Amino acid sequence: MVSKRLLLTPGNKELMKLNFCSLSSGSSGNCYYLGNEFHGILIDAGISATSIRKFLKDMDISMQSIMGVLITHNHIDHIKGLELLTRKNSLPAFTTPKIWESILSPQKRISRDCIREIPLQQMFHLAGFDIEAFPVTHDAPETIGFHICAGDRKITIVTDLGHICQTSAPYIKAANLLVIESNYDEQMLENGRYPYFLKARIRSDHGHLGNHQTAEFLADNINDNLFHICLAHLSKNNNTPEMVLQTLEQTFLARGIILNGRQRISVLNRNTPTDLISLV
Ligand SMILES: [Zn+2]
Ligand SMILES: [Zn+2]
Repeated sequence: MVSKRLLLTPGNKELMKLNFCSLSSGSSGNCYYLGNEFHGILIDAGISATSIRKFLKDMDISMQSIMGVLITHNHIDHIKGLELLTRKNSLPAFTTPKIWESILSPQKRISRDCIREIPLQQMFHLAGFDIEAFPVTHDAPETIGFHICAGDRKITIVTDLGHICQTSAPYIKAANLLVIESNYDEQMLENGRYPYFLKARIRSDHGHLGNHQTAEFLADNINDNLFHICLAHLSKNNNTPEMVLQTLEQTFLARGIILNGRQRISVLNRNTPTDLISLV
């Protein structure tokens, strides 16, 4: 008799359970996990390395199983724990040469041995995943999203972008699991206490996606292959999970969109990990 363990070898991609989890999502810190029972990766390290190690341990995920961290851009809410992850855990970190330049000029203590440069829009392989980085518009020297394939399962993570352009749209539309920003409620931002220049920056094509922008894009592009939508990177001061869901529900209702029984929508917590989301 063949044991379950033998069936679940890393080469047997189709049989492996794939789990996604958000450890933290929002303007105070971003870190996401994707992996199977053998190995996994992190996307961004925007909370302390101590918190990342603790959250993974709480979920019975060993730090040794993490094969690398993908970095989207140089803002502190995406790289806060990167220095220690490279120095103490010797974790390889993957991003474009331009983003490395923007990270390394102010923060020089990243372990040089852990620097891995990746090209834009060319597939590379890590931990059994086929991964492609694609550019998005945001107010950093360069910002990228990630499209990650495990067998026929496709995950797109795109958390900081002012608008969805022709380059990023196909990666977002192709996802089975989509992690997409829904940063601010337009009315809360307008009526809030931020100075005008900051409101303008957030609303611009190089800022963040508002709830209506994200909801309209999803209403335009929802399809049966999109199983799970995770709404991410909520603003602390200009949004609430309730506002995000209400905007999406109203937009879908106005368009007559009804989710099929397999489709799920989650709003990711700002400061605490979500449950593991399984992609069967
Ligand atoms: Zn951010
Ligand atoms: Zn950012």
